Amino acid sequence: MDLSPTGAESVLRADIRAWLVEHLPWEYGEGLPPRFDDLAEEVAFGRRWQASLAADRWVGVTWPEEYGGRGAGPTEHFLVQEELARARAPEMVGRIGINLAGPTLLAHGTADQKLRWLPNILSAEELWCQLFSEPGAGSDLAAVATRATAVDGGWVLDGQKVWTSYAQFADWGVCLARTDPEATKHHGISYLVVDMHAPGVEVRPLVQLTGEAEFNEVFLDGVFVPSDQLVGTEHEGWRVANSTLSHERGTNPRQLVIHIQLLEELLRLASANGSLEDVRLRQRLAQAYVEVRLFQLHNLRTISRLAKGLDPGPEGSALKLYWSEMSKRLHDTAMAVVGDAAPLWRGAEDNPGDGNWQRSWLYYQASSIFAGTNEIQRNIVAERVLGLPRTGAAKPADAAPSPRKVATHG
Ligand SMILES: Cc1cc2nc3c(=O)[nH]c(=O)nc-3n(C[C@H](O)[C@H](O)[C@H](O)COP(=O)(O)OP(=O)(O)OC[C@H]3O[C@@H](n4cnc5c(N)ncnc54)[C@H](O)[C@@H]3O)c2cc1C
Repeated sequence: MDLSPTGAESVLRADIRAWLVEHLPWEYGEGLPPRFDDLAEEVAFGRRWQASLAADRWVGVTWPEEYGGRGAGPTEHFLVQEELARARAPEMVGRIGINLAGPTLLAHGTADQKLRWLPNILSAEELWCQLFSEPGAGSDLAAVATRATAVDGGWVLDGQKVWTSYAQFADWGVCLARTDPEATKHHGISYLVVDMHAPGVEVRPLVQLTGEAEFNEVFLDGVFVPSDQLVGTEHEGWRVANSTLSHERGTNPRQLVIHIQLLEELLRLASANGSLEDVRLRQRLAQAYVEVRLFQLHNLRTISRLAKGLDPGPEGSALKLYWSEMSKRLHDTAMAVVGDAAPLWRGAEDNPGDGNWQRSWLYYQASSIFAGTNEIQRNIVAERVLGLPRTGAAKPADAAPSPRKVATHG
């Protein structure tokens, strides 16, 4: 593995850095993204920011130029993400479209679907959500029970989705629904694009531990989906959903950059409040530093595979397992550094970060659940990396659990 950049990579890094110095809504290297108490305001700010990046093709770096991308490779994508993080740029508000819906459309969409949806994903003109999980289908995602009944010109959807991040702001949703109830579990599912403003779509926000309502229940009551919003082949949506996973699995620049930022902030706080002088805390901080660096190296190893045109492979599950557990350890260390202020919330006196550390600690409790739980990742590593016997091996293949491995926010 050669980690030194090529000449072209160094030029690209210098270009994005110069762009950020010019366009960042605060002084480069000085400020932080504004904090919003209202999620809707945060989303509006995120849309403006993403639109300005997209206008100069800094979003969807690996996407073809005709849809607004740069047609570049995974190394260039990674490098741009690193520079965005270094500048403390806010994360992409349209990440579900960028990371999940977009790659699926690129792989399976028709020419019309790509032209219609892809450019607006990059510019954040339209936001997307992921309508996969249901009350009875999370880890075992192929158990989806939402029905899509064929009618003239399309399907009518009836069912309920849950944990749908940003559904209240989304214009479109990628949805797994059962089009053939007679077929075996993994067959008879179709991958449909749902207009979130269509009659019959009801979004009910759910409040999380953090007090924010980022995800939702989505009720689908007689929602019409025209036939040109089917992605891939009817009844073969499971294959479409799984192909997205192979695009997404393996690297996680977003979480990498977030954790590099968190670590830098934490070391600054520890230095300011004397925690670095405490021998026990110092050990934990050193451990956090080493673990974030290891996360970076795991990412680089996968990038090097991708750059050679290889698949990231099921080892991607080990990466998710690693970073989510690393994140929880880092946040526990952060709480120890915050010390007596740990139980405080926003607005309290003598609370370093004014509640940001506490909010982040609460938020990352979810990291071992979203994008496939850690138990499921362990099953994948056990079966497909270590070659241990398959879960439910005694059952016929189609009845075995179909573990969710979706590497997105969800
Ligand atoms: C912050 C957040 C955002 C999310 N956003 C989205 C979104 O936008 N769209 C979306 O579709 N979903 C989203 N999700 C849902 C997420 O994908 C599911 O929560 C996850 O897949 C687990 O499903 P479940 O909650 O139904 O738990 P279950 O599948 O019911 O699991 C319950 C417990 O049983 C364990 N378990 C289940 N099966 C096995 C097995 N075979 N072996 C060992 N243990 C097992 C699990 O690990 C878990 O501990 C989000 C979740 C979170 C926390």
